[in-house]
Amino acid sequence: MKITFPHMGTSYIPFRALLNGLGQQAVVAPKCTQRTLELGTRYAPESACLPLKINIGNYLEAAEAGAEAILMAGGIGPCRFGFYGYVQQEILRDIGIDLEMIILEPPATGWGDLWKKLSLLTNVNRPQQVVQALRLAWAKFVGCDRLEQLSLRVRACEARQGITTRILEQSLERIDTAHNVLQVTKAVKEGIKELNSLPQQPDRLVLEVGLVGEIYTVLEPFVNFRLEEQLGEMGVLVHRNIWFSTWILHHIVLSAFRARQTAHLCRLAEPYLNHFVGGHGLESVAHTVQFGRMGVDGIVHILPFTCMPEIVAQSVLPLVSEGYQLPVLTMVVDEHSAAAGIRTRLEAFVDLLANRRRMGEHKLRHGESNIDLVSVGLTGDR
Ligand code: SF4
Repeated sequence: MKITFPHMGTSYIPFRALLNGLGQQAVVAPKCTQRTLELGTRYAPESACLPLKINIGNYLEAAEAGAEAILMAGGIGPCRFGFYGYVQQEILRDIGIDLEMIILEPPATGWGDLWKKLSLLTNVNRPQQVVQALRLAWAKFVGCDRLEQLSLRVRACEARQGITTRILEQSLERIDTAHNVLQVTKAVKEGIKELNSLPQQPDRLVLEVGLVGEIYTVLEPFVNFRLEEQLGEMGVLVHRNIWFSTWILHHIVLSAFRARQTAHLCRLAEPYLNHFVGGHGLESVAHTVQFGRMGVDGIVHILPFTCMPEIVAQSVLPLVSEGYQLPVLTMVVDEHSAAAGIRTRLEAFVDLLANRRRMGEHKLRHGESNIDLVSVGLTGDR
């Protein structure tokens, strides 16, 4: 069966390996572009959140490339994600696109349905082939995340603008074409070596920013206007705690055994938000506290317009900002957001952080919070 799936950052690399390894034919939609967005917004309800619209665009572009089925994650909790797959199925049906939708509900909802769907996806005879496919996909998930993480540090001091992104893209391509775990390991090692050997500007003023927010907008560069690249090229080291591999580990593997490690995040968020609000709302608050304790210069909080869990987080972040003397820039994106507006706001934010640093209003501290800084709380919205 020719199966497609929505784009989200580099996740197409491991998903392609997984589906092909399971004996299916992965159809990877073209990377998200303005056309993808236009297709999605044409057919999705206006009030739907941005990721749903872009997913629709991905499916339509994949259908043009011959896809017959869609693999989509389900969800539970107080946000719209749990309905995504079903709503998308209806939208496609309404416009006469005949694609089978395979929705994988999280194991916490029960194993029966999940096994049924997984067996639909498996078209190989030997269990070893399934294990091999899973191992290869996992190696690619971890490899992509490791390289991306390293690139965030290297880019902030790169001597030639854009070189880190170019090397990263080449390394990711090598991971994509690797046929076994050994080749993935080799590609990752080469990528790390190349990134580490890029010429740096040792005397550059490097600011540190924590990136928090809704997972899709954090991970998908088309939607966040290549935020990490833009900040990196302005001399900002971006920290983020949301990675696809850790999301899988916590939300699928550990949650299947009811061992998801969220207790420490709940403790961090507790003074400001003391219950789960769906999506990554609680994580956004907890990670902001974490970054505040690390002593980063500021926080960028990104969310799709109307994203309920992140709106809850947004309403709480001014308190965290005040408590940790931490400027927070909130960026709300939808189909009307424009690159120039985003760029202007990022430049203004980085200017503010640089001035604070120069005036000694911010001291980088690693460890527990020790606040003796002048208050410069800043939150912005659209
Ligand atoms: S987390 Fe936000 S963007 Fe994602 S489905 Fe829920 S409401 Fe929509």
